[in-house]
Parts: sequence; C-alpha cells; structure tokens
Amino acid sequence: MNLAARPTFRFAPSPNGALHLGHAYSALMNQRLAGEAGGRLLLRIEDIDLTRCKPEFETAMREDLDWLGIAFSEEPRRQSKHLDDYADALAALEARGLVYPCHCRRAEIARSNCGLRDPDGAPLHRGRCVAVPAVEAGRRAAAGERSAMRLDVSRALSSLAAPLTWREFGEGARERIVAADPAAWGDVALRGRGQPANYHLAVVVDDALQEIGDVVRGRDLYAATSVHRLLQALLGLPEPRYRHHRLVLDANGDKMSKSASSTPLRVLREAGFAAGELRSALGFGATAASGLAVRFS
Ligand code: GLU
Repeated sequence: MNLAARPTFRFAPSPNGALHLGHAYSALMNQRLAGEAGGRLLLRIEDIDLTRCKPEFETAMREDLDWLGIAFSEEPRRQSKHLDDYADALAALEARGLVYPCHCRRAEIARSNCGLRDPDGAPLHRGRCVAVPAVEAGRRAAAGERSAMRLDVSRALSSLAAPLTWREFGEGARERIVAADPAAWGDVALRGRGQPANYHLAVVVDDALQEIGDVVRGRDLYAATSVHRLLQALLGLPEPRYRHHRLVLDANGDKMSKSASSTPLRVLREAGFAAGELRSALGFGATAASGLAVRFS
C-alpha cells in the first residue's frame, strides 16, 4: 500500500504552555477519525513563535499524549526546522506582487482603522500602510527594523478565477460548503516583524507537505480557514476537508486556554485521574464515570 495515499490526519499543538482538556479532545477526535478511516495520524509541533515556544513544554506535551494513549505514525514535523519552506512560499507570493513589506506597529494600525478588528480581535490592517507614511517606513527600514510581510487581500482575491469556499463537516458526516471570507482579516500578516512566518502561512504549507486530507481542529480556528483557503488557492495547494469540532469550556464557561482557569492534563493526572477516565469524560471511552464534568461549547 502506498502510505502517502492513506488518509492522513494531524494534531498540531504549539509548545507554548501545558496541554489541557481542549487539546485532549482534539487529539482524541483526530485519533478516532484516523482509526475509522484506516489512516495515519501525524504530530506537528507548531513552534514557529520562537519566543513563546519552549522545549520543556514540548517534552511535557509528549508525555501527556503518551499517557492519553495517543500514538503517532511518524516522528513529528517541527516548524522551526522548516523555515525555508515558509520563506519559499512567501517569495512565490512576493514574485506575483501579492505581498508587501509593512512597518506599521499594532497601535498605529489601531489608530488608523476606526476600531476595526479581525476575527481574532486584533486591529485590522486595511491596506498598503496608510498608517505610516513612506518616509517613516523608509527610516525604520534604514534603522535595521525588520518589516512584516502582508498579503494584499484585494489584489489576491481579484487574481482568483472562482469563488473561494471550503468543505466543512463539523463533527458529522454531512458536508456543507462554506463561502470563505478572507477580507474579514484585512491585509493579514504572513510574516510578523520578529518572526520567520506566521501561523496562517506555516499551517497551509505544512498541511500540503504532509498530505493532510482532513484538518480536524477546534471551532476557534473556523474563521481562520478563510485565510487558509485563500493561501491554498494562491499557492496552488490541495484543499483538505475541514472538521471544526466543539470546544471544551473551563469553569468560567470560557474556551480552554493556556491560562490559569484551564486545568492542565498533568494536574488531572497528578490528582489521580486515570487516562481512561479522562477519555470517557470527553466521550472517547467506556471507563466508568470519574466525576470529571466536561462542558462543551
Ligand atoms: N497550533 C494551533 C494550536 O495549538 C493549532 C493549529 C491547527 O490545528 O490548525 O491551537
């Protein structure tokens, strides 16, 4: 059997904190779907943010995943080892005039855009650096300040031959065609001022290189799929199926995050919970009830 032809799934955590129940749900969902499809499950370490990601978080993450009983088909792909792949993709977009350097700072973008925000709540960049006059941008560049690289979203959209959509399955079997809306993100940065690439660019390059056919991840990334589909179309990359699953909520009813209110898996383990109890509490096992109540979005 040609391994690459097998359905391929991935779990793609960022080692910038401890894994919590939300990560466990996502990893278990990927494991279940890969198993049902007779496919492969890959681990990708999304450590592109070199300032926040730490090797000790990665070690702890691997221990948590082992404890949960989640095995991967191959050694992980680590983004920090593949920066050339992201630089090549950016260069391809630059050669077509679809990205441009930007010296705007976050506060300057916020002042220039009447309070507009992108779907993640960050100030929305409306285009071609209205906030910072060219002379000032030149001064910053001459002073050695690295620029961000932004996608010219209107030029990118007008270069497409067909409307942009994606295939969404949620947690079910029925497909829904969703109209992508990348313009909601404005001229999104594909490389930050201090980064080799940002999440959006790295994730589409990696999903294509790893031949991921099914992207299974939390609903918090639903809106980002619009940008991912645009980049896939521009870079000529294949379109995966998307399965955005519900989110696990913390005690305050907020989505789990790497903040204090979301109990890390390690703490649950040290408190005496067995992996089977945790899997059952999340809906992936038959072990008797543990008293661990899980709330979903
Ligand atoms: N690295 C992202 C996270 O930890 C997941 C990205 C993805 O699944 O596309 O939230």
